[in-house]
This record gives sequence, structure tokens and C-alpha cells, in this order.
Amino acid sequence: MSKIESIIEFECTDEKPSDCDWTLRKKDVSEIAEAQSSPADKYHRKETCNNCGSLNEIKWVDGEDGIMHEGETKCTCCGFSDYWAHGFFASMQDGYDKCEKYQGYR
Ligand SMILES: [Zn+2]
Repeated sequence: MSKIESIIEFECTDEKPSDCDWTLRKKDVSEIAEAQSSPADKYHRKETCNNCGSLNEIKWVDGEDGIMHEGETKCTCCGFSDYWAHGFFASMQDGYDKCEKYQGYR
């Protein structure tokens, strides 16, 4: 068990009724720990398609000093259109996760 799991488990109890969805329960510990242990600073590389991992064409929408903040992307391989903003593809909310990741903001 990782440290984060033991901390969460310490705060959890199985005594509370299961219909309280705001209540931490022990059976949720592994799920919470997994979510917390995945680094928050794993950004999506906008040059790679979130549908197939191939190379994207990028259309600059917003940014400054040579750093793009938002842009439209289109895959040169599968034609997948996406919207990249501040490190993340909009398509992640639809479950797409094939793009390359990088640590830290740039
Ligand atoms: Zn693609």
C-alpha cells in the first residue's frame, strides 16, 4: 500500500451509509489513490493526435511570445480534429488518450 493510500484509508470508514456519495469509503481508496498518484503536470503534446498518436497540423488560435495557449489541431494521418488549450486536448473529456505527454509547462 502506498503512502497516499494509507493516508486516505485512515480518513475512510465503512461505517457510514453507502448512499452518502460524498463519504469516503474504504472500497474507494484504490481508485482515489490512483487518481491522486497520476502526475497533474502531464500535459498533452499538441503535435500528436489524441486519436491515433500521429502528427497533427496546428492552427494557432491564441498565445503570446511564441507560446501557444490555444489552437485547433488536425491529424495528418486520421484527420481527427481537436482543440488544444493550455496543455490539454478537449477530446480528453470524450475519453481519447493517444497523444504523447510531457512533464511541466512550456
Ligand atoms: Zn490521428
